Amino acid sequence: MPTKLKSDLPPKQITIIGAGLVGSLLAINCAKRGFQVQVFERRSDPRAKRAGVGEGRSINLAISKRGLHALSCLGIDQPVVTEAIPMPGRMMHSTAGELTYQPYGQTPNDCINSISRGWLNCYLLDVAQKTPGVEIHFNQNIQAVDLEKKSFTLLETTTQKERIIFYEILIGTDGTASAVRKSMQAQLGFAFSEDELTHGYKEFVMPATDEGKHKIEKNALHIWPRGSHMMIALPNQGGSYTCTLFFKDILKTGNDVQEFFSKHYKDFCDLVPDYLKQYFENPTGKMVTLKCNQWTYKDSVLLMGDASHAIVPFFGQGMNCGFEDVVVFDELLASKTNWGEVFTEFFALRKTNADAIADMAVENLTEMSTKTADPHFLYQKKIEKRLQDELPADYQSRYTLVSFSLTPYRMAYEAGVIQSQILDEITRQHYPNTDFPLASWEKIIRQKLGPTMTKINNHLAKEHTPWT
Ligand code: FAD
Repeated sequence: MPTKLKSDLPPKQITIIGAGLVGSLLAINCAKRGFQVQVFERRSDPRAKRAGVGEGRSINLAISKRGLHALSCLGIDQPVVTEAIPMPGRMMHSTAGELTYQPYGQTPNDCINSISRGWLNCYLLDVAQKTPGVEIHFNQNIQAVDLEKKSFTLLETTTQKERIIFYEILIGTDGTASAVRKSMQAQLGFAFSEDELTHGYKEFVMPATDEGKHKIEKNALHIWPRGSHMMIALPNQGGSYTCTLFFKDILKTGNDVQEFFSKHYKDFCDLVPDYLKQYFENPTGKMVTLKCNQWTYKDSVLLMGDASHAIVPFFGQGMNCGFEDVVVFDELLASKTNWGEVFTEFFALRKTNADAIADMAVENLTEMSTKTADPHFLYQKKIEKRLQDELPADYQSRYTLVSFSLTPYRMAYEAGVIQSQILDEITRQHYPNTDFPLASWEKIIRQKLGPTMTKINNHLAKEHTPWT
C-alpha cells in the first residue's frame, strides 16, 4: 500500500456523508493523504449481517478497469479480484433457447467482473475502519445542511435524538436521493434534472445446482434480449445468479406473469422454477439519470458519486465512475493548495465525463435489449473485432474504451459516434461478408476517426497509477 502520500491543503478535517461504495473508498483515500475523516452513515453497520446488504439495490454489480484501477491505486484491489467472477463476454439467450456468445474484448483478460455489492461495501468498510484517521458513525441520518453556518443536523436513528455537527469540508456521497444535494438545490442558480427511465427493474435469484454449481455458463454476463424488455444474469460465488428483468409493463395477475414468462423466457422458467413467487415478492426498482449544473458550494461542500451523477445501469459504470471520481479527486488533493481550486477543477474534469457516460448508458439499453439479437448488429461486432485486431492504433471500440481502459468517457463517447457511422457504411457495402479487404477502409477510418484516436492513444500511453 502506498505510504508517503500527502496533501498541502488546510484544514485537515473532512466530513463525508454516506458510507456506501464511493463514500467508503473516499474515506480510505483521504485518510491516506493525511486527513482526519469523519463518516456519517444512515444505515446500521452492514457488517453485522454481512449478507443481503444493499437496501433493494442490485445484489451484484460489474466492476471493470476503472473501478479496479481506483482500488489498485490504494493497494486494496487484490481481495476484490479474488472474490469477483470474471465475465469476458456476453451470452445471448434467444426466445427458442439458443445460445450465442460474444466476447467483450480482444483477449480473455478484457473482462468485466461480477462482485457482490454487499461483500464489496463490507470489505471497503473493513479497510476504512483499519485506516488510521477514519471514524465511521452508523445510524446517523443527515437531515439538512446549513451551507452558510457550515453545519448539518443529524438524526441518530436508534435514539431519535437530533444534534448539530459543524464541518470544514463536507463531501456528500449519499447517493441518488442525496440530502446534501437537496440542501444545495435551494440555492439560486442550481439546476437539476432527474430523468426516470420508463423501464423499471425486478431482481430474481437463479439457484445453484444441488451440487452448488452454476447452472449456466459461469464466466459470462447472460442476456435475454427481447426488445421492449430484457433479462440479464450475473454469476455469484456459490453457484447462484442474480437476474434482473428490465421491463415497462407491470403484470398484475399470476396468469399474466406465467404467460409472459413462458412466451419470452421459456428457458429461464426452467432455470428459476419459483419465478412466479419471486415476481410478486421482490420489489420493482426505478432507474434515473441525474444531472446537476453544480457539484460544489463555495469551497466547503462537494458532491461525488451518485449524489452528483446517478446513471442507469446499462453500461455497468455507475460505481466505476464514482470510483474514478475518487482517483481524480486524489490527484487534486496532491497537487492543489486551496480547496476552491480542488473543487473547481474537479467539476471541470468530471462533469463532462459523467454526462458522457450517462448518455452512453441510456443508449446501451437499446443495444442490450434490441440489437444483441439483430443480425446486422452481430455482423458489426465481428467487423469491429477485426478492426481492433488488424488496426489497433486506428480503432478501439467504445465498449473497450469504456470498460477496459481509463480513456475519459467523453473521448469514448466521441469515438463511438464516429465508429457507428463507419460500421453502418461497412454494413451497407459488405453485409454479410466479413472477409472483405480492409485496405480501402484504412484510409477512411484514419480520416474520420484519426483526430479522436490520436487523443485517445496519447491518453492510453499515459495511463498510470497517480503515485508512481
Ligand atoms: P450509494 O451506493 O447509493 O451509497 C450512498 C450511501 O449513503 C448509502 O450507504 C446510504 O445509506 C447513505 N445515505 C443516503 N442518505 C443518507 C443520509 N441522509 N444520511 C446519511 N447517509 C445517507 N454500477 C457499476 O459500476 N456496475 C454495475 O454493474 C452496476 N449495476 C447496477 C445495477 C442496478 C440495478 C443499479 C440500480 C445500479 C447499478 N450500478 C452499477 C450503479 C451503482 O450501484 C452506483 O453507481 C453506486 O452504488 C454509487 O455509489 P454511491 O456510494 O455514490 O451511492
